[in-house]
Amino acid sequence: MDLNDKLAILADAAKYDASCASSGGVRRDSTQGRGLGSNEGMGICHSYAPDGRCISLLKILLTNHCRYDCLYCVNRASSNVPRARFTIDEVVRLTLDFYRRNCIEGLFLSSGIIRSPDYTMEQLVEVARRLREEHDFRGYIHLKTIPDAAADLLQRAGRYADRLSINIELPTERGLGALAPEKDAGAIRRSMARLRVHIDEARAQAQEAGRQPVRSLPQARPAPAPAPVFAAAGQSTQMIVGADATDDATILATSAQLYGAYRLKRVYYSAFSPIPDASAALPLKAPPLVREHRLYQADWLMRFYGFAADEIASPRTGGMLRLEVDPKLAWALAHPERFPVDVERAPRELLLRVPGLGVKAVDRLLLARRVRRLRSDDLQRLHVPVRKVLPFVLLADHRPARAPDPRRLLAPARAAEPQQAALF
Ligand code: SF4
Repeated sequence: MDLNDKLAILADAAKYDASCASSGGVRRDSTQGRGLGSNEGMGICHSYAPDGRCISLLKILLTNHCRYDCLYCVNRASSNVPRARFTIDEVVRLTLDFYRRNCIEGLFLSSGIIRSPDYTMEQLVEVARRLREEHDFRGYIHLKTIPDAAADLLQRAGRYADRLSINIELPTERGLGALAPEKDAGAIRRSMARLRVHIDEARAQAQEAGRQPVRSLPQARPAPAPAPVFAAAGQSTQMIVGADATDDATILATSAQLYGAYRLKRVYYSAFSPIPDASAALPLKAPPLVREHRLYQADWLMRFYGFAADEIASPRTGGMLRLEVDPKLAWALAHPERFPVDVERAPRELLLRVPGLGVKAVDRLLLARRVRRLRSDDLQRLHVPVRKVLPFVLLADHRPARAPDPRRLLAPARAAEPQQAALF
């Protein structure tokens, strides 16, 4: 099989993984004539999942052969798909070639389980090692980590990769047991914990190194000591949504637990895509894409707006996010007693709960209110959706007469029911 055919198979097989955003890395480039490439800027290849989502990526699998038989996965052992496998040299060469042609900004590399988790992980690490050590490659590298791999392999992976990720796969242990019986929820969490320890240690050592500059000559200006590096862009994970009956409340509770326990950079939610020859244990239809979108919005509320998971969705309220309205507006409509909020006096936490006000807008309002009274015009100048904000706030020139009216607030959203355009 020639390289192009392998690429066609192994790039296609990798497109189901959504956890490939490259935010949070350390800036690295070759502007001083040293090394190759940079990890900044746009232009990483893009691919489309069958349901039309655009996923930014440079993504390939080392191989789509896999010993495991996860029911939701197109690459599972029992799947009838064409198989291919890159050699380490081929992946290195492809990455460098694409890089030189300015087609990509980095490498996202995952793999099916070849002989054993350790063997597979060794191969992934070796690709990253060669790129960094032999080719001085300064682009972004994201390695998908094999959870059962030995601890020293995870440690080596972190030396070369900007980001490591371990897929939690399903939101619950029971779901994982039912759909991916060979995967071990305990091993996944142990590996996440190990990565967290290494990341925290590297950060602490980097801070320490910054405090103790190195002076190479007596008269030279001290330079920061080289900091140890370990997955500077942190770790992330991906959860499949809609492959089992787990509700949004449980999904968000699992995410909150993962953020708290392992300090993940991101949890990615990937709406289940039906696959060919699927098991009867899987649903026939994909969940609505808007569910995935609402989960990302809810996740954002937990990470940046101070919401707890059970405030956004809880079993008491049916466990599912409302699809027709974003979770922040849904929370505000369910808590009319908290509104209107006095923009001139309310604490930051409460302002962050006002629908339509983002983190930047709130911080600017906090600065502005120190020096003058705030009026509706100030909202306009901040480019916030004023119509959405006004029913929930008190301003010098605006006092809503009654509590926000859900029917009026939801009317525009209902009128413009979004439609997924056909891509192909
Ligand atoms: S281990 Fe990964 S590649 Fe293999 S079947 Fe499971 S999800 Fe697919």
